[in-house]
Amino acid sequence: MANASLDKNAPVAVAGCGDYGTDEVREALSRAFDAIGVKGSLSGKKVVIKPNFVAKRTPDEAATVHPAVLAAVADVLHERGTGEIVLAESPGGVYSQARLRAIYASTGAEDVAQAHGITLNYDCGYREVSSPDGKVCRLYDIIDPILDADVIVDVSKLKTHALTGMSAAVKNMFGAIPGIVKFEMHSRYPDYGDFAEMLVDLCELLCGRAEFISVTDGIVGMEGNGPTAGKPKHLGALLVSRNPFASDAVAAALIGRDGEIGTVVRSAERGYCSAKADGCRIVELGASVGEMSKSGFELPDSADKNMIEVMRTAFGGRIYKLFAPYPVVDAKRCVGCGVCASSCPRKTIKMTKTKSEKRVPEIVRDGCIRCFCCQELCPHGAVKIKKNPITRILS
Ligand code: SF4
Ligand code: SF4
Repeated sequence: MANASLDKNAPVAVAGCGDYGTDEVREALSRAFDAIGVKGSLSGKKVVIKPNFVAKRTPDEAATVHPAVLAAVADVLHERGTGEIVLAESPGGVYSQARLRAIYASTGAEDVAQAHGITLNYDCGYREVSSPDGKVCRLYDIIDPILDADVIVDVSKLKTHALTGMSAAVKNMFGAIPGIVKFEMHSRYPDYGDFAEMLVDLCELLCGRAEFISVTDGIVGMEGNGPTAGKPKHLGALLVSRNPFASDAVAAALIGRDGEIGTVVRSAERGYCSAKADGCRIVELGASVGEMSKSGFELPDSADKNMIEVMRTAFGGRIYKLFAPYPVVDAKRCVGCGVCASSCPRKTIKMTKTKSEKRVPEIVRDGCIRCFCCQELCPHGAVKIKKNPITRILS
């Protein structure tokens, strides 16, 4: 049987859902599962839910999947007769039991798991997996519960993203890579184009190992400086598909960046989806993609990156260093915790002390690859992205 996750014509259900009322979310999700043909096929299978729990955040911050969506996913899976459901995530930063415990508590997953029959994963093991068909990456470390599942349910949050432009189904699977190994991946793929290809390689690998279903929580997404420092944005939709690449093509249109997101463009080049939403097989369930796309999402401050890519290709790396947006620390918000320094894949952030003995991070811009991990993982929103004034005018 052809792999539905790589089938360009696999349907993408877009279900309207105005808020996080438990019944409304469950009903919208159930209709979407039926629309993409997930009925009795999950019977007795071992399922892993991979949510977007990028950091220790609360549901109202819109950086993580809402607990009502997790609860509905579990209910809909149980209704379809699945076996054990495990929830597994390797968030940004260290992959440890203590960190998982803190994140499950803050995101609301702990309560949902107890009430809806989900086993929370605390096993921090991972294995090496080869990916002979990978375009840029042929070897990955992947966390055990994702490798051990018959079915992967990729539950993402629809957000803007400082590095990749958008975080949805494909980007969410980067959390299958354990903890700080993710920093190594940033370091190995400093070029944004290569990083996007690596994400597509990873998602393709996982789609080939297990049955794959993607659910994107776009009821309230995040706009601006996502994935953690943006603002909540109400959209009122859930996206469900067996094909995460096609789902992201539609998601890009919903945030107002139809055909512009690097991972979508590269997935389309490989024939896994259309580069634009109008080439996708969309099933609208009480939602209009055209109408919802009109308002779009506010872009992150790093959004000049596309133009920088063009300039870099034309003039070389020096131009990139001169004109690319760069991270700066807002001293008023910074508490000197050092998370940014330990998260930096290039070790280009040094913690120093001021005259008053306050610990402050100092970013050495020359070594910075503009991965924006420091912005993503700062727990206090103290890392901002600054645009070069010339780039701002040109863009
Ligand atoms: S992570 Fe944020 S708060 Fe902590 S030292 Fe870095 S900038 Fe300051
Ligand atoms: S300073 Fe920030 S953006 Fe630059 S390499 Fe380090 S983590 Fe990435």
